[in-house]
Amino acid sequence: MSNGRCTECGRHGIPILYGLPATHARVLAAAGLLRLGGCVVTDDDPNWVCPSCAHMWSDPEGALRELYLLFGRARHAMPRSS
Ligand SMILES: [Zn+2]
Repeated sequence: MSNGRCTECGRHGIPILYGLPATHARVLAAAGLLRLGGCVVTDDDPNWVCPSCAHMWSDPEGALRELYLLFGRARHAMPRSS
């Protein structure tokens, strides 16, 4: 567990989202709130990247929780489509 903090410098990290990004994810990535990791997933991919020192580390549970919060917030901020 890293609590979303960089294990090198202690700054709050950015969660990395793997898989095909939905519109929400693209918007959040453009805002610098998450990093898109691409579609090819292996077992030891890092889940966090530090915006300060670029260190990457693995904490899948923490990253999922962070992404869940980000998407919850984004849903409120996004204009309704359809
Ligand atoms: Zn760092």
